[in-house]
Amino acid sequence: MEVTWTPERVERLTQLFEEGLPTAEIGRRLGLTKNAVIGRLYRSAMTRREPMHKVLPRRNVFEFAGPSCLWPFGHPNDPNFHFCGARPEPGKPYCAEHTALAYIRPKDQNAA
Ligand SMILES: [Zn+2]
Repeated sequence: MEVTWTPERVERLTQLFEEGLPTAEIGRRLGLTKNAVIGRLYRSAMTRREPMHKVLPRRNVFEFAGPSCLWPFGHPNDPNFHFCGARPEPGKPYCAEHTALAYIRPKDQNAA
């Protein structure tokens, strides 16, 4: 059965869904199958989310995680590559342990 989704029908569907009605009940009220209701809700969710993806700028993961030690473990091409992630020293990109490694042993850094 082909479902015609008029704006009015979509609005009613959204309204019933937001009232917390089960999809089967929404379908009964709109004279549709439960699958038609689910399919339409799914598509609505997708189209609603789409503009947000376009607006959101690409962000570095550390902007979300807050300050964290950026001491790298492994090679960036390594699938296990990760950063320390501990709370950094004030004004430093690394935690206390890795600040010591970074600033007290510069020769080791140059050799690496
Ligand atoms: Zn660290």
